[in-house]
Amino acid sequence: MAGKKSPPKITGLRTLEIYQNDIPPDLDFGDMVAIDTETMGLNPHRDRLCLVQLSGGDGHCHIVHFPQKKYDAPNLIKLLENPNITKLFHFARFDIATLKKYLGASTSPIYCTKIASKLVRTYTDRHGLKNLCDELLGIDISKQQQSSDWGASELKSAQMTYAAGDVLYLHQLRQKLEEMLIREGRKELAEACFAFLPARAELDLKGWPEEDIFSH
Ligand code: MN
Repeated sequence: MAGKKSPPKITGLRTLEIYQNDIPPDLDFGDMVAIDTETMGLNPHRDRLCLVQLSGGDGHCHIVHFPQKKYDAPNLIKLLENPNITKLFHFARFDIATLKKYLGASTSPIYCTKIASKLVRTYTDRHGLKNLCDELLGIDISKQQQSSDWGASELKSAQMTYAAGDVLYLHQLRQKLEEMLIREGRKELAEACFAFLPARAELDLKGWPEEDIFSH
């Protein structure tokens, strides 16, 4: 069709599955699942959850679409709260606050590639997902759809592939960051920070979004 653009190809994306409102009960992500969320904005109290993207790090991406402010996702909640499966995020603090607010899920255990990056890549202040993919994996990811309308009832294919890209590389990034954390002797500190993330997200939701309660 004239003028119809095909969605951007994404490095390493093998399949992309879309579900409405929940994942199927039988999805197997192994012991670590990469997760990202898309919302209407950055204020969890105001901006509803629209999408949850998941991947086992094998090139297969699963997207849960919440077209309305109606949340009933028992299978997803079970996965988020499963103590034997690590949930891998980039900037977990925001995602787990949103998942708590809209699904009521207490996400745990958690690994955050942004925290890991801040603890070892002390030579830079660039800790965005795009920066990490570029430097550690040599993969160029597009951030073009980042601020698009995730609340639309029909999502565009460019939005879907963008959303998939946010979970596809987290396992590989974690691998690289783990090596650096061990090299720099900061693995235990990273683990303590990850363990604190549910409390940090709770502080965000309960009225201390900016204030550092540890400061004088
Ligand atoms: Mn995202």
